[in-house]
Amino acid sequence: MTTILFKNANVFTGKNKDFEAIDFAVDTESGLFINQETKNADKVIDLKGKYVMPGLINAHTHIVLDPFFKIGGLSSVNAVKTGAVVNTYIAVDNLNKLLKNGVTYIRDVGSSDDIDLQLSKLEKENKITAPGIIGSGPALVMTGGHGVELGLESDGVDELRKNARTNIKNGARNIKLMATGGVSIDGETPHDIQLSVDEMRAAVNEAHHKGYTACAHAQGTEGIKNAIRAGVDSIEHGIYLDDEAIQMMLENDTHLVPTLMAPWAINQHPDKLPDFMVKKSLAVQEAHIVSIGKAAKAGVKIAMGTDSGTAYNDFENGSSEELEHMVKAGLTPLQALQSASVNAAELLKIDDYAGSIESDKLADFIIIEENPLEDIKAVQGDKIVYKKGKKVE
Ligand SMILES: [Zn+2]
Repeated sequence: MTTILFKNANVFTGKNKDFEAIDFAVDTESGLFINQETKNADKVIDLKGKYVMPGLINAHTHIVLDPFFKIGGLSSVNAVKTGAVVNTYIAVDNLNKLLKNGVTYIRDVGSSDDIDLQLSKLEKENKITAPGIIGSGPALVMTGGHGVELGLESDGVDELRKNARTNIKNGARNIKLMATGGVSIDGETPHDIQLSVDEMRAAVNEAHHKGYTACAHAQGTEGIKNAIRAGVDSIEHGIYLDDEAIQMMLENDTHLVPTLMAPWAINQHPDKLPDFMVKKSLAVQEAHIVSIGKAAKAGVKIAMGTDSGTAYNDFENGSSEELEHMVKAGLTPLQALQSASVNAAELLKIDDYAGSIESDKLADFIIIEENPLEDIKAVQGDKIVYKKGKKVE
């Protein structure tokens, strides 16, 4: 057993409200934080002047998509015609980028060929070094619905139930549902209602019976309310939240995963993307920011997610940049840090072993130069990343 004591750092554990001088220790073999007597550590690392926080958790990714279309086609439009081998290559490359940039856990919410589920298993068994993965397998979508490229067409309560069970059998720990249309696909709008309350509820129940979670892509107001009524654990995107939707989320303890990076990234590249996509993306951006700010002020629990894999929405600094967008939308810097640590861990149901700097939890953490509570952009700067107690090289 090799133990390392980290001394003199300013630490945000996920549970405290400010960075505090806390010494902490890891066991590199078990990969966990441990209680360690100073004198007994095999190695001591002095982090004087540095800031330490839990590794980032990103609750909304699509690791099989290449956001820059270098290998795959135009993501989310032409998606995943490339096949399992190429998509696995893209996924592994994306996981490496996430980890190097401080993301130590993800929830993938729409994959092809169960690539997320199989890589999740390898990571859990310590056979690959990657962020931990809560996988969803293919999203469940209505016939012809949003995200069909990364989805399984399912209509009616019976098919939703059957396909949720199949995904879980294959290793899914979350069920992804499509409650509305979206931005990245032509011929639909964010307001379109897709899966019904009854259809979604059938799948949500299957997830909950196993102790797992369900989430819904839900952009328009009615679809958002449908998904909350169906009992999902999180609303993804939540572009058009009204006061009633926010109240329903508070009453049902529904998390919100904003993915502000998704429209922002599209809007930075209007000349390179199809007109329909840019038009819809520009149309939603302002409402999206207002919705997220309102929800944050009302006390809705927010978990960080980027939708990385959609157009120009990268796996590198995207997660850190999402935090900046959240603060611009109205979250406090503390809420932003919580969204990427304890809140996301709670949503993913991994909070008993990850998401905070505490003994017996996974020693996933990042070391940064400046205090992100003073300037959230500090998370975007140079960082040293530890995954399961080992430095990521
Ligand atoms: Zn998505």
